[in-house]
Amino acid sequence: MDCLEVVRQLWDYLDSELTDEAMARIHRHLAQCRQCYPQFDFERTFLDAVAATRREHPAPNLIRRKVLAKLRKAGLDL
Ligand SMILES: [Zn+2]
Repeated sequence: MDCLEVVRQLWDYLDSELTDEAMARIHRHLAQCRQCYPQFDFERTFLDAVAATRREHPAPNLIRRKVLAKLRKAGLDL
């Protein structure tokens, strides 16, 4: 499995929407690929921030700002 294939399926991976085999293959790739790992980390942090913000703040106009704040706090350069 190459990096492009991993990145293309990363969102589905994060949502656990792939087959067990595909989940395992991506997991193995991320564990050893320095090129993909930062991308994975970013998307996981992003999804966590969105999920947390939805729980805390149902008002949609606040979500974008809160998500960006959480991502910056997580060390992402936005
Ligand atoms: Zn890779």
